[in-house]
Amino acid sequence: MRLSETRMLATRMPETNPHALRARRPAVFIDKDGTLVEDVPYNVDPALVRFAPHALAGLALLARAGFALVVVTNQPGLALGRFSSDAFEQLRRALVRRVFDEAGVVLCGVHACPHAPHASGRPVCACRKPMPGLLREAALEHELDLTRSWMVGDILDDVEAGRRAGCRSVLLDVGNETLWEHGPLREPQHCVGDLLEAAHRIVESSVLLPLPLPRGEGGGQRGRPSPAMRAPACKPGPLDGLAACGSKAPSRPQLSPQRGEGAIPSSRTGEGAMHSSRTTEATA
Ligand SMILES: [Mg+2]
Ligand SMILES: [Zn+2]
Repeated sequence: MRLSETRMLATRMPETNPHALRARRPAVFIDKDGTLVEDVPYNVDPALVRFAPHALAGLALLARAGFALVVVTNQPGLALGRFSSDAFEQLRRALVRRVFDEAGVVLCGVHACPHAPHASGRPVCACRKPMPGLLREAALEHELDLTRSWMVGDILDDVEAGRRAGCRSVLLDVGNETLWEHGPLREPQHCVGDLLEAAHRIVESSVLLPLPLPRGEGGGQRGRPSPAMRAPACKPGPLDGLAACGSKAPSRPQLSPQRGEGAIPSSRTGEGAMHSSRTTEATA
């Protein structure tokens, strides 16, 4: 199901639009549980969310370097009935808001796989990490350049998902990986102790990017500036009024519950609410 969606989306990619091609940004895809926040199994209570050590500082550093920031998370609790899609949506909103309030960073999206794995642990869908579906979908949706992007996570399945998507990967070696099943796609470029250290490694390993230019300033870009080149690559979603993903807006976000975002599609839980105009839901 996920693969067919991805293929359908691929047919809509604006490959012939040179402005869209130039506008693609690198991203850092960030695992949620054990990487961005402390892992509390099946938790959807925003009050129990604790950011991992130095995680917010890491996000801020990456945002300043010009990376779009996208959370990608396996949430089998949805398929297993451990919590509802509405409950997860509340958590997602709280997470986006807290990242903005506490780090000044706008998350481009929170993409979640709602499927449970096979009894063997292997994915039965194309979006559960270590499969790369979430990253590929986010790249299409936010016009991200996977070849210049990174995946950061606390287990080797995260590493593999990033590598399968064509990204480089960083492993947070914080004791959460226990199986250590190695393979060609499960070798991270860096192995670090927290998200801030990961951010430093990523920035050091990447060409630094200029921050998005404000409207009316076209300097530094080759060719005629287009709206696609200057506009944020990601829709701010519930944080209406913010300038761009990964940058601090001058005012607090206006969280509006009247954007038609309350319902999570049964097939794609967690990320749909960031993007109320999604057309892929009907195909699920
Ligand atoms: Mg994790
Ligand atoms: Zn899935």
